[in-house]
This record gives sequence, structure tokens and C-alpha cells, in this order.
Amino acid sequence: MAKHWFPVFSNSKCAHCGSCVKACPDSLLESESGLPVLSNPDLCRPNCFECTKACSEGAVGIVRPAKPCDCCSF
Ligand code: SF4
Ligand code: SF4
Repeated sequence: MAKHWFPVFSNSKCAHCGSCVKACPDSLLESESGLPVLSNPDLCRPNCFECTKACSEGAVGIVRPAKPCDCCSF
């Protein structure tokens, strides 16, 4: 399970513009047939929304893995 939130990409909404791929400050996204792919969500910066902000199509969603409680780090 990923450590913290990470983006997911809607194939049906994506316009294959590549803006999110370029916006990632750590170059974590790759384009596969125009659709962005995040191979390792654990490398995402906490609270980084750069790829989300870059998308004008509303194609970037957010997944927040559930934690047992706020005092736990796993
Ligand atoms: S959330 Fe940030 S670090 Fe993760 S893929 Fe998007 S832009 Fe890159
Ligand atoms: S910015 Fe949005 S529309 Fe463009 S490639 Fe990324 S997810 Fe697709």
C-alpha cells in the first residue's frame, strides 16, 4: 500500500496532452500511449498537487490510503 496519497488518471477523461507529465517536479510520470502512468506512488511528495493542478480535463483523481488512526505511521 502506498505511504500517502497519490494521483490516479482517468483514461476516459484524459486528453493525452502531457501537461501533468511535464508538471511533476520529480519526473515520476511517464506517458504510455498518451496516458500518464505513475509507476511508484511511494515516491510522490506528500501534499503535492502539481499534476492535479496541471490537468484542465479533471482527469486526475486522488487516492488516500486509509490509516488505522492519526497516531500511527504505517
Ligand atoms: S503528486 Fe506530485 S510528485 Fe506525485 S506524480 Fe503528481 S506531480 Fe509528481
Ligand atoms: S494533464 Fe490531464 S488531460 Fe493532460 S495528459 Fe495529464 S491527465 Fe491527461
